[in-house]
Amino acid sequence: MFDVSAAQPQSFHDLIGQSTLTDRLLSGLSSGRIVHACVFTGASGTGKHTLARLYAQALLCQQPTQAGGCGQCPACRKLAQGNHPDLHWIDCAEKDSHGVDVVRALTQDISLRPYASRHVVVLEAAQLLTVQAQNALLKTMEEPPAGTVLILLAENLSALLSTILSRCAVLHTQPLESDVIARRLQQLGAEKDRAQAAAVLANGSMGKALSLLDDPDAWQAWQAGQATLEKLLHGQGAAEALDFLQSHRKNLGEVLTCWESALRQQMLCGQEQAFEALNACMAAREALYYNVTYSLLADALVFKILGGRHGTPC
Ligand SMILES: [Zn+2]
Repeated sequence: MFDVSAAQPQSFHDLIGQSTLTDRLLSGLSSGRIVHACVFTGASGTGKHTLARLYAQALLCQQPTQAGGCGQCPACRKLAQGNHPDLHWIDCAEKDSHGVDVVRALTQDISLRPYASRHVVVLEAAQLLTVQAQNALLKTMEEPPAGTVLILLAENLSALLSTILSRCAVLHTQPLESDVIARRLQQLGAEKDRAQAAAVLANGSMGKALSLLDDPDAWQAWQAGQATLEKLLHGQGAAEALDFLQSHRKNLGEVLTCWESALRQQMLCGQEQAFEALNACMAAREALYYNVTYSLLADALVFKILGGRHGTPC
């Protein structure tokens, strides 16, 4: 059984696909030119939370290495247990955690001497901070206690004050290629087929891929979708396919993603009929975008795939 918790990166070197960011943070740490205020921004599941955790560890570790925190010292152990007194981690998505009172209390906390070398503040979902809270935060950013490092995590930047952004290094986490995700999942012990399925559905997010591996319903839906497509490509199962699409009507976009991925793979194997089926999926995706009536969309999809059949898929 795949252990999702064991897949969490323990050092910057374990974090794949974000080398531009990790190089910048690590070179700052090794040269003493630490990034004191930064925003990690990017889609959900692209590594913002993990980067913040690793950067905080590297900043608070008593014996940091070239890959960040050592994982062994008392500070690293406290961080692993979630009770290092100098790490102030606030999830602004939690109830009553995005108002000005939270920022005032935080400012009070970090005005006191740190337990060890410095305070590290992480504000998760910082885009949810109220304007008043952001203005209070700005005041702290203008005159931060010596050594304090402030890390904001935000899915989008438009809700953050430009005056805050101008004081931060803005670092963009990037979505990953599905091949990169699949390879990493296999390295972590996932079966090849499941790793590829999770990687395709994850849409560039390692976090989503890991949660899909943990979800038996997602795997069953993937297998059912692949079996349905195979039958259609053999000229069978139109009624079953329409039933399948109906039962997955709410996540039709994901079904199309699965089918498109399988069909591209078949095209690579030289199966020309896959091209017609792929065109049918892409037309259905466009119809979905333009809110075409569901039954018309599903009928057209199924019968175009059946109609484009000329051979045996690989
Ligand atoms: Zn350490």
